[in-house]
Amino acid sequence: MSISAQASAAPVSAVPVDTAPVSAVPVDTAPVGGLPVDTAPVVAVPGGTTMSATAAAVVDGAIGTVLDTLVEVERMIASLTAYRAVALDEVRRLARAAESDRPTRDRGWSAEVTARRVAATEVSAALRISEREAEQLVADSAALVTQLPATLSALREGRVSYRHASILVDEARSLPEAAWRSFERAALPEAEARTVGGFRQRARAVREGLHPVSLDTRRRAAAETRSVIVEPGRDGMAWLTAHLPAEQAIGAYRRLTEIASGLSGADEHRTLPQRRADVLADLLIDGIVAESGAGRGVRATVLVSVPALTLLGTPSASDAPSSLEGYGPISSEVATRLAAHAPSFVRVLTHPETGTVLSVGRERYAVPRDLRLWLRVRDETCRFPGCGRAAVNADIDHTVDWQHEGATRHDNLAHLCSSHHQLKHRTDWRVHHAGGGALEWRSPSGRRYRTEPAVRLAS
Ligand SMILES: [Zn+2]
Repeated sequence: MSISAQASAAPVSAVPVDTAPVSAVPVDTAPVGGLPVDTAPVVAVPGGTTMSATAAAVVDGAIGTVLDTLVEVERMIASLTAYRAVALDEVRRLARAAESDRPTRDRGWSAEVTARRVAATEVSAALRISEREAEQLVADSAALVTQLPATLSALREGRVSYRHASILVDEARSLPEAAWRSFERAALPEAEARTVGGFRQRARAVREGLHPVSLDTRRRAAAETRSVIVEPGRDGMAWLTAHLPAEQAIGAYRRLTEIASGLSGADEHRTLPQRRADVLADLLIDGIVAESGAGRGVRATVLVSVPALTLLGTPSASDAPSSLEGYGPISSEVATRLAAHAPSFVRVLTHPETGTVLSVGRERYAVPRDLRLWLRVRDETCRFPGCGRAAVNADIDHTVDWQHEGATRHDNLAHLCSSHHQLKHRTDWRVHHAGGGALEWRSPSGRRYRTEPAVRLAS
């Protein structure tokens, strides 16, 4: 995230303020005027070394002010999409009314289908978007206006973005209608607190928990739809996609990553994603990685969190579901099987097992294996605000540096991907542990962000 770039590029003047139905937002008085937005390159002075401390503080303050404007603009955009949803739903209702008023003529379509097609084509033509996109917009708007009013309000007030709202609609739609309201109650606060990617994952977990049909039953039905497909891509490429039971997909992907990571030599010019793709092709076509023979004996290590009671065969309804690292909730049947029989899957009881090392104090810098696994379960991803990179590929950072008396303890350690690890050491982003695994971040311009652990573990 390049804050200085955003500041200099903020297209504030392009917002159609005069026509925006949110006149209460003080855009005209937005604190952009007078600030050195056009001369923002001054912000980019490396490390502020050529600036006096006071000048650097002024620039940080200026960034903070521009960020306030940016947040306000995003809020207005979200709010406008709420008005758009209301208007789109109005088109749907009017088309429906027109159709039911018309004398029935047998044209092969029911009044409902006719109305839906009319609404979609009207919107598609007027907005110059595809009919498919228009149909999606109309359907999402109908769900927001008629069935998810709290989400529509959150959108109108700019507390969630349209992308958050459409994920919520999408997940709700996969539940029976009777469960929509309780899903909305549980999911909306998550949408207000998370990035789009983080929310998508969380919304899926919430949905699993609320589905009236058990995950075991749904999983058995879904496993019948497993398949492999090839789709042509551009420029001589193609997509090979497999629709697999989650534990197989995650296990295969993790093994690809482990083999691909092992191929990183001094003269290796391929990126990790490129190596992963090459390894996949080699393994499927030849059985091993051709040039190095790599792949033999490499096993994926995937963590499966299982509530202790599930493993004893007496799961209670209040138990958190079992969960597969990098995926989310899985059926207790699958979790129990993986935990007992699959060597690639490391079992983690969600009640901490006795003997897990949580702290080695100041005795050594290196993080012992037990504590590494424990931290991987707690963090799941890089802990920088909004980052979704998997903890398994991230560094474990001493929050207070080792040379500054920081200890090798769970409450002084957190996963940071290499990009954010460097960011922490090279910029004025600051972080401290706030207890219970939560981290509090302070940006260079002084804004505060809190990131929560994926799993709260007793320590
Ligand atoms: Zn990160």
